[in-house]
Amino acid sequence: MAYVVTSPCIGTKDGACAKVCPCACFHDAGEMLVIDPDACIDCGLCAPECPVAAIFAEEDVPEADRGFVERNRTFFDGLSVEEKNRLRVV
Ligand code: SF4
Ligand code: SF4
Repeated sequence: MAYVVTSPCIGTKDGACAKVCPCACFHDAGEMLVIDPDACIDCGLCAPECPVAAIFAEEDVPEADRGFVERNRTFFDGLSVEEKNRLRVV
């Protein structure tokens, strides 16, 4: 399981979530931030910080935004350690 960033982040992307994440999970995916599912420890600290309620535990993602579970996960496919570090948001 992991937490997931969903559609309301697009157009907001203020980074409030990244400031509280103890595991530096948040990465810049262009129009939005995404969470590294392999680094997330499901602490839930980020969700209440989001001003537009874009962050959900994977199993609680609203039906209309289910595709964002894959979008967060696949962002990291094939990314080198260097690229991952470069795109990390803290
Ligand atoms: S649930 Fe915790 S570890 Fe996972 S992204 Fe949010 S703050 Fe980071
Ligand atoms: S706090 Fe919410 S809107 Fe802001 S970057 Fe994080 S997920 Fe996106």
